[in-house]
Amino acid sequence: MKCLYCDSRIDKITLKSLFFKEDPLCRECRKALKTEHKTIRINEIEVSTFFDYDSLFRSVLLQYKECCDEALKDVFLYDLAFMIYLRYLGYEIVLIPSSELKKEKRGFDHLKLIFESTGLKMNDGLKMKKQLIQEGASAEERKRMTDNYVYEGKPLRKALIVDDVMTTGSSLYGAYQALKPYAGKIKVLSLARVHDFTNQEASVL
Ligand SMILES: [Zn+2]
Repeated sequence: MKCLYCDSRIDKITLKSLFFKEDPLCRECRKALKTEHKTIRINEIEVSTFFDYDSLFRSVLLQYKECCDEALKDVFLYDLAFMIYLRYLGYEIVLIPSSELKKEKRGFDHLKLIFESTGLKMNDGLKMKKQLIQEGASAEERKRMTDNYVYEGKPLRKALIVDDVMTTGSSLYGAYQALKPYAGKIKVLSLARVHDFTNQEASVL
């Protein structure tokens, strides 16, 4: 087997690989893509995050999303999926929507594929009012994201909003506001954070 990212051979059978699904990354890449759990506050919400959005994370995510390398879907939650399942048992995953244009170009819903590995129920009731593209958006445009979501799904008892990268937190905060009237309890999770906010920075939203 070859590492899905750097293409070097993985031929060592580790104790872990005997019991769990094989890691799609080699040991060096896995070590470099290290997980560090941090909770970031944006106004009244707390966002659980797992990775720094460093050059490696960015490059793996880009290869997955923009080069449509679907095989990379298991890289991010490889050793987190089961923990997420246990921690959020009873929660339904509500996906932050991508723009329809991007989804069509990619041919798959990248976020859905990543989080399917948790075994939690998925919900795609969150929609964009306008098809704004996030990447490369100005600060002004990002602010508008907070007002750009609408929830069209069934009411939920427990919802877990998920996204891949948290930049200013405006998407997650907007999604939270849109979902609030329809969910009893809401938790928020982003795979990566661009930087650690202080409360002051985050509340500028
Ligand atoms: Zn590798």
